[in-house]
Amino acid sequence: MQPPALKNDCFALPPGVDWTPVDTALDLLKSRLSSVVGSQQIDLSDGLGRILAQPIFAARANPPTANSAVDGFGFAHASVIATDDADVQELPLIQGRAAAGQPYDGQVPAGHAIRILTGARIPLGVDTVILEEDTTSRQDRIAFRGGLKKGANTRKAGEDVAKDAPLFDADHRLMPQDLALLAATGIAKIPVHTRLKVGVLSTGDELIATGQPPGETGVYDANRPMLLALLDRWGYQPVDLGHARDDRDLLRAHLDQAVTEVDAILTSGGASAGDEDHLSALMQAEGQLHSWRIAIKPGRPLALGQWQGVPLFGLPGNPVAAFVCTLIFARPALGLLAGATWQTPTGFLVPAGFSKSKKPGRREYLRAKIGHDGRVACFKSEGSGRISGLSWAEGLVELGDAARDINEGNPVTYYPYSAFGI
Ligand code: AMP
Ligand code: MG
Repeated sequence: MQPPALKNDCFALPPGVDWTPVDTALDLLKSRLSSVVGSQQIDLSDGLGRILAQPIFAARANPPTANSAVDGFGFAHASVIATDDADVQELPLIQGRAAAGQPYDGQVPAGHAIRILTGARIPLGVDTVILEEDTTSRQDRIAFRGGLKKGANTRKAGEDVAKDAPLFDADHRLMPQDLALLAATGIAKIPVHTRLKVGVLSTGDELIATGQPPGETGVYDANRPMLLALLDRWGYQPVDLGHARDDRDLLRAHLDQAVTEVDAILTSGGASAGDEDHLSALMQAEGQLHSWRIAIKPGRPLALGQWQGVPLFGLPGNPVAAFVCTLIFARPALGLLAGATWQTPTGFLVPAGFSKSKKPGRREYLRAKIGHDGRVACFKSEGSGRISGLSWAEGLVELGDAARDINEGNPVTYYPYSAFGI
């Protein structure tokens, strides 16, 4: 399967747009991007995190046959004369038993009961099961009280999923529990999109790789391990493109090499319009670049473009801003490129454990976590160089675009990191 290339101006903003509201940016990404990956057939056991290329239907009902939900005794409800708790019913037990994987193949005669274990196929002549604990048994008879409903403690064939029932739409990303459903309904091979290959490139003369001597002014490259790990979490194939110095020719060589290997590129740093912002300068001169000044804190400049047709997300260099922009913009955008549906994180209204006066005109994301008092606390500093706050936090508080005075106890929207698939 060879999907069409993205249009060169897929990231262009409408004329006159300057500071772009977050929702406008998200709507644009949603409407402009589409799958750039092919499809393949894989084993179910390799399916975790993969995105389905076709809808899937149950090959088999679950459960495949009616079976017992408990350990106990099975019989026909019509055999029971006792009608309520005051009446005692006795039934003779037949020889043999029904267990999971060891069905009883005969017919249980009317007026008789059979020993039955959890998961055992319901034998012919049985429609009701009584829990072992609700009976007394002596040799070959059981006694219990009346009042049991017909069908009690049994599971009907297909009560969970009918054969041929739709299980998942195309574009669904498989979670561990989905593998259970597919396995249970007889699916062994699954059609999935090929894994999106995403390159990660850091830019900046000051950057040094982990493990290297830092010198006096060196800054360890924090974005690359973080971005590669996020991509891995999201089920993509991360490709380490290394680090490029602030030099146009070196950067060009890096990008030329990258597009032969990957489907999309995440860069960090050099994305604004400063003298040393070579990424945006190079993209502008020789690729396609649409620099989006997004009304978001932390973040702001987000350079979106294509290098030889390969989509590139130019993230801010600041690790906190790079992290937030990746979760908010790159995650759903990469999802579309990878063949998934657009992913909107689910937030929760939680009482604030802080007070804050927020300016209008931009959306803000605060590093946050919920305390034992059930209120959401924010990191002590909003400084976007404070990487430690990302690890302190367990999620983000989102403050909408409008001005707002937040007092302790007021509801604010909290997204646990898990809402972003991490
Ligand atoms: P820039 O966007 O290139 O102007 O960088 C903004 C800030 O982020 C500067 O303080 C950079 O040193 C810092 N920075 C850029 N890239 C990284 C990185 N990969 N790891 C840590 N800090 C970075
Ligand atoms: Mg830089």
